[in-house]
Amino acid sequence: MSRMPVLFVGHGSPMNAIENNSFTEGWESIAARIPKPEAILSVSAHWFTDGTRITDAEHPRMIHDMYGFPDELYRLRYDASGAPAIAHEAGALISGDVVTDNDWGIDHGTWSVLLRMYPNADIPVFQLSVDENSDAARHMQIGRELKELRNRGVLILGSGNVVHNLAKIAWNKNSGFPWADEFDDYIRDAIVKHDYDKVIRYREAGDSAVQSFYFPDHFYPLLYVLGASDPEDECNIFNNARTMGSMSMTSYLLG
Ligand code: ZN
Repeated sequence: MSRMPVLFVGHGSPMNAIENNSFTEGWESIAARIPKPEAILSVSAHWFTDGTRITDAEHPRMIHDMYGFPDELYRLRYDASGAPAIAHEAGALISGDVVTDNDWGIDHGTWSVLLRMYPNADIPVFQLSVDENSDAARHMQIGRELKELRNRGVLILGSGNVVHNLAKIAWNKNSGFPWADEFDDYIRDAIVKHDYDKVIRYREAGDSAVQSFYFPDHFYPLLYVLGASDPEDECNIFNNARTMGSMSMTSYLLG
């Protein structure tokens, strides 16, 4: 069984589930170049909870957890099976409490990306939530604890956005505001240099960090992916771009 890389995807708008653009091409090309996973563990920005939660359903629900988009998006299906046994293994690897919660399922942070990467939905998927009470260092630690799953053929996928500020969004802009570029560059530079402590201390970026998000829900999934990476992993950066002013699509494949 191949050791899997780890992947952080900037997911952006849910419309990426159905639109064809350079970002969705990037997602498709990554799926084509990595080994086919046995299962996918998705840490989605859209499951931001009190404590760490995990899904272990045989058949996870698909959740259309977004508002105000065209009907077509709400008709989409992604009926991947779950991975109960691997989910239990993952839960046991994590120090501290992990609550099983199948009221949640596969949210749009996960399916908008997987619909493009694996449209046949033939790989089991389960989700891990992002604990709103934990700090950046703890999120990275959980990623480290999950690293072993890579040897079991599990693709650890973080789905979020390094820059994500909906209050400042400029729908028709196809680049980033200067502070969005600055913060995305700051994080990218730290990752390239393997200076992950700098990512944990992202607030030291100053004003660009303050403007890039008001809640860290979309930023934290990156920390799981960095935690699960190894120093010898090759760092591949793709979709390196900002869009709609306040959204970074920059994505990282490590391994
Ligand atoms: Zn999102």
